[in-house]
Amino acid sequence: MQRNNNFKIIRIPIPSPTLLPFTATNSYLIGNDQESVLVDAGYDQQETKIELEQAIKEYSLATPKSIILTHSHPDHAPGVRQLMDWSPTVYCHQLEKQATLTAISPWNTVSFLTDGDIFKVADEEITIIHAPGHSPGQLNLYIPSQQILIAGDNIVAEGTSWIGPPDGDMSDYLQTLQRLKELTVSKIGPGHGEWVLHPYEQIDFVINRRLEREGQIKSLLKEHQPLSTTRLTEMIYPENIHPSIFEVAKRTTEAHLIKLINDGFVAQQDSNYYLKS
Ligand SMILES: [Zn+2]
Repeated sequence: MQRNNNFKIIRIPIPSPTLLPFTATNSYLIGNDQESVLVDAGYDQQETKIELEQAIKEYSLATPKSIILTHSHPDHAPGVRQLMDWSPTVYCHQLEKQATLTAISPWNTVSFLTDGDIFKVADEEITIIHAPGHSPGQLNLYIPSQQILIAGDNIVAEGTSWIGPPDGDMSDYLQTLQRLKELTVSKIGPGHGEWVLHPYEQIDFVINRRLEREGQIKSLLKEHQPLSTTRLTEMIYPENIHPSIFEVAKRTTEAHLIKLINDGFVAQQDSNYYLKS
């Protein structure tokens, strides 16, 4: 059924100190001039409010009365602090209650959304998906009438999302990606970067990249075990990489190792890992 209620989904990249190559985090405004919701509030800085209110005016949207946070990370949630005069209801998944309250303090109330909830805005329905992987309480939003998926940090426009402990879980992540593939999606609104116009290719690219890395870790262990996380990461990235990037890469290796242990392929002794025979 086609409704002409000026329903819009607008992506607003807001500058943030996030993982390169990205320099902005996406917020999304969803709704019309009667009612709207904000997805992700960006980084805690004045610019966040200025950019959002500019977009609200430009696209003739109502000021959001609700903010849905895909997750609690510093480039997605703390911007709520800048938006207090909207008196919004802030939503997150229960699993990220504490982290969210810390991220948006002194704002001290959150409401919860969970898998299968239907969130209504401007007479349109948004299906809430609990999509753990990048973080335990990651919320994704699916708008069936537009075939649009707002994927938080489960999908970024270029390359792969960062998955690492303590927040990230590789097993959850791969399961989530399989589940997202079952939706009918014409484009994905990622946590960072442009709209993704080839959703299934992008999801498959990410799944394949993660499975390749898993295979690479198994064969490195087979040849050189036992290996520490640091040594494995050095072998995966043989070129000299910047120390700050190396730490991030190391935690990705760790996320893979945790999955391989849970899957029964790898065992850990002290700080070393080896393949189970
Ligand atoms: Zn994140």
